[in-house]
Amino acid sequence: MKQFVVIGLGRFGSSVATTLAENGYDVLAIDKNADRVQALADQVTHAVEADATDEDALKTLGVRNFDVAVVSIGDDVSANILCTLILKELNVPYVIVKAPDKLHGKVLTKIGADRVVYPERDMGARIAHNLISSNVLDYIEFAPDYGVIEIIAADKMVGKTLKELELRSRFNVNVMAIKRGEDLHISPGADDKVLEGDRLVVMGKNESLDQIKNYGS
Ligand code: ADP
Repeated sequence: MKQFVVIGLGRFGSSVATTLAENGYDVLAIDKNADRVQALADQVTHAVEADATDEDALKTLGVRNFDVAVVSIGDDVSANILCTLILKELNVPYVIVKAPDKLHGKVLTKIGADRVVYPERDMGARIAHNLISSNVLDYIEFAPDYGVIEIIAADKMVGKTLKELELRSRFNVNVMAIKRGEDLHISPGADDKVLEGDRLVVMGKNESLDQIKNYGS
């Protein structure tokens, strides 16, 4: 089972730490602020007060033995960078870092961060997509030009199979799943029919997803 270390216990870090712990994973949570550490003490495997820019402190805590590190030191750019650098030098295999902006994210990638996340930006985009189109229930970006959307099946789609809809050849998108009530049908086949009220989870380039969003209108 993977072991996680979460560094920086603000809103983001503490949410990551408690969710992992609730799902049964071993979590070491680190913050330099004693109150933040205290607040999580009962919810994770270990919660420790330490400065994440102090290499010796991280070594003593055995951080190098963890599979994944999540770094979320808020807006302290230099601490975020220094901590990431130390974790990679200690050979932590997978380091995910929360970045406040793109420039900062680029620096983090250059020094070895395996994944950079921008939760505020991504959540903003998700909410905006939900607001713009009434049939878009959710949007997730997974690369700068690519995303996944969940849409309510347009009237024009109802009663047709995926083959008949030809979404792949016409729009260059893939239907990854069909949600019907509580049921989730992953990787539907060409002969699967779209029914009224179905929600389609569709992956593709953003411009193609825009066409799908407007398909029914
Ligand atoms: P969020 O946007 O996730 O709420 P915050 O800025 O509130 O982020 O939280 C960042 C956390 O990182 C704070 O709890 C702060 O104490 C912690 N932090 C900042 N610098 C360090 C450091 N050098 N070592 C450990 N924790 C740190």
